[in-house]
Amino acid sequence: MCGIVGYVGNRPATKILVEGLARLEYRGYDSAGLAVAHRKALRTTRAVGRVDDLRAAVGDDESPGRTGIAHTRWATHGEPSERNAHPHTDAAGRIAVVHNGILENADELRAKLAAEGVALRSDTDTEVLPHLVARALDGGSPSLEEAVREALRSVEGTYGLVVLDARHPEELVVARNGSPIVLGLGDGEMFVASDVAALVRHTRQVVFLADGEIATLTAAGYEGSRLGPPTTVDMDDADFDLDGHPDFLSKEIYEQPAALQRMLAGRLDARFATARLDGLHLDPRELRGIRRVTFLGCGSALYAGQIGAGLVEELARIPADAEQASEFRYRNPLVDPETLYVAVSQSGETIDTLAAVEELQRKGGRVVGVVNVIGSAIARQCGAGTFLHAGPEVSVASTKAFSSMVTSFALLALLLGRVRDLSSAHGSRLVEGLRRLPDAVETALESADEVEAVARRYADARSMFYLGRVRGAAVAREGAQKLKEISYVHAEAYAAAELKHGPLALIDAAMPSVVVIPDDELLSKNISTVEQIKARGGPVIAVTNAEIPDGLADAVIRVPRLEPELDPILLGVPLQLLAYHCARALGRDIDKPRNLAKSVTVE
Ligand code: GLU
Repeated sequence: MCGIVGYVGNRPATKILVEGLARLEYRGYDSAGLAVAHRKALRTTRAVGRVDDLRAAVGDDESPGRTGIAHTRWATHGEPSERNAHPHTDAAGRIAVVHNGILENADELRAKLAAEGVALRSDTDTEVLPHLVARALDGGSPSLEEAVREALRSVEGTYGLVVLDARHPEELVVARNGSPIVLGLGDGEMFVASDVAALVRHTRQVVFLADGEIATLTAAGYEGSRLGPPTTVDMDDADFDLDGHPDFLSKEIYEQPAALQRMLAGRLDARFATARLDGLHLDPRELRGIRRVTFLGCGSALYAGQIGAGLVEELARIPADAEQASEFRYRNPLVDPETLYVAVSQSGETIDTLAAVEELQRKGGRVVGVVNVIGSAIARQCGAGTFLHAGPEVSVASTKAFSSMVTSFALLALLLGRVRDLSSAHGSRLVEGLRRLPDAVETALESADEVEAVARRYADARSMFYLGRVRGAAVAREGAQKLKEISYVHAEAYAAAELKHGPLALIDAAMPSVVVIPDDELLSKNISTVEQIKARGGPVIAVTNAEIPDGLADAVIRVPRLEPELDPILLGVPLQLLAYHCARALGRDIDKPRNLAKSVTVE
């Protein structure tokens, strides 16, 4: 959520900061700002709106300063306005702070500062920080780092932050507790950001800060007591270009065959008809000892987990479920040592999922991560799991990471099945199906023109149903989620058989239903569902790989058949396209839907 960029080096900082913020635009925000130190004074510019608005506010009057910090804000305390935009400064205008996260005792600290005569100039929680740092320095702190340490002692909550002292422009101090901070190591210059996307233009050598770490950066390097070694990130700046597509969502939808190819590379074992997931660090005996699998995630990662749970039950015949990580962490969960917990997050920074992982580990649970971003907090916290290798996912709505997650769960289910009772013949069939999956997804993408026509016809609906049974149920949930998040059309997903227990009352000519119909043993049941809707005058869009009677549905979108277990991945593709084309038809801001942010790092 929100973004941070900082620079200390020998080049003018402003341009580097603004470009860095632009790379973080996809994360969603409402205002932006920067502060640059020059001749022992700060120049601060802030603007409501986009990075372009900040760029315009800076204009040609760029500070020559070579150290600076910048921020895109996603307001949690105080409306999005210029005075609430970061950086925030102390009364003397000496200390500037950018902060991601939430300070939970901000009200108390604000009241205390106000009682001491400090005039607060914003409604944010963040503003207490520059005042506290300034007070620590006035009270004799020997360095900015010490002052930040002292200030943070009175603070409760989450933060990723960068602090700049106008009197010491040769350094920046960074700290992390719950919100990501990553250092970028340059040659004679140092960068800091909340996301590697802002860094890869300059360097691939990065250091991820762990919770509780504080470090000082100078042009020559960095110092911190508990920093790990640098890692090399496998992305480059071009990954953040549109590559001829009108938006990142379209780019990422069409990248799915390549992303799945990378997901599967080296993980299919045709000889033993199984999957290889070495990153789990589980030997066959340990795999055999697993009595249950629980997937934990939020949003699309949760729906992916629901499909994963179905796959595990079907192929390994052990109980499996998927839980909202946010509920799990607060529920005082019963943690079972024989359950394998799978924490699922594209960014690896989702705060609710990370907290669930920590809670599980405290209680002796065995948890592995399924994440896309190498070096992310959940990956590090789990220490075992599967990387998706989907490449950077920039658009807020998840597509390629989602299908990569589901594919990784198919591999997990296959592996768990093969150490139990799944036959080698069945295993071989799945290995072959998975090998052909990327091509089949490519074919499923050919439905785009048809889907676009359907979208034009139904985009002005007030609401839509998404219906499916068993293998199709979680596909429907993810489809509804996609439509809501990018087109702002209300959608509700329902298990098809439940329809007649209440929601059927909503069906009329103005309420289209998208029915997911896999070619499986429930085909005739799904056909009856369509008929029940049609009988009540509701339009039906069927998404299917089965033969269904002509004229049954008002629109039919077809995907290829592969193996029935992999149907959820293929049937999900047209639903992504449907949401995409509805959003386009309605003129939405596809990559940056209102109110949303890419990775949810605040509660
Ligand atoms: N809580 C801070 C604010 O509302 C920071 C929000 C953010 O992470 O952007 O200003």
